[in-house]
Amino acid sequence: MSKNVLVVAAHPDDEVLGAGGTIARHVADGDCVRVVFMADGVASRDAGDPEADMRRSEAADAALDILGVRESYHLGFADNSMDETTLLSVVKKLEPVLRKCSPDVIYTHHFGDLNIDHRITQQAVMTICRPQPGEPCREIYGFEVLSSTEWQTVGDRPFLPSLFVDISSFVDRKLKALFAYAEEMRTVPHSRSVEHAELLARHRGHSVGVMHAEAFEVYRIIR
Ligand SMILES: [Zn+2]
Repeated sequence: MSKNVLVVAAHPDDEVLGAGGTIARHVADGDCVRVVFMADGVASRDAGDPEADMRRSEAADAALDILGVRESYHLGFADNSMDETTLLSVVKKLEPVLRKCSPDVIYTHHFGDLNIDHRITQQAVMTICRPQPGEPCREIYGFEVLSSTEWQTVGDRPFLPSLFVDISSFVDRKLKALFAYAEEMRTVPHSRSVEHAELLARHRGHSVGVMHAEAFEVYRIIR
């Protein structure tokens, strides 16, 4: 039976860095995949620049097209400022989209990330998807995002993945989607580079005996 999958990402590019290969694999399996972007993701230096907003939005469309995603939502929170609003107002904006999509599988951020928008996004998802009677979501996973998850500091909850998705046949598509975000990518040795994304996919893959993988924390599975 095909699955109804929702990826809840703080910023455009997080969905590809964290789960691009897994998204492409779901699409190949015939699953319905939608993506929600919480913040516009335009770097602080470009804040308020409508052209930068437009470029980021076009990059997201191009990347999702490469992965085969046909439906996405932009909730329009300000980049790196989600802590200036209350968790309740984030929940109120995200909840209608979640109810409309009614996913049985959700991929979102790891709570221990350095980036504050990532943390708040994860908290909002877990708040909305409280396992009350009738809650349709059966699986929630947390992905890792280069230049945020591995930049966590002592005292933050470490990223300890226990779900590994073999993306050996989809890593090329993930990297191609990352190239669509050329403006967000950096050159090596910066952590957020296409080369490092490939290296991480190889590391996660080799850790479990396959060529390339994406790794996730399991937040909840209900069977
Ligand atoms: Zn992000």
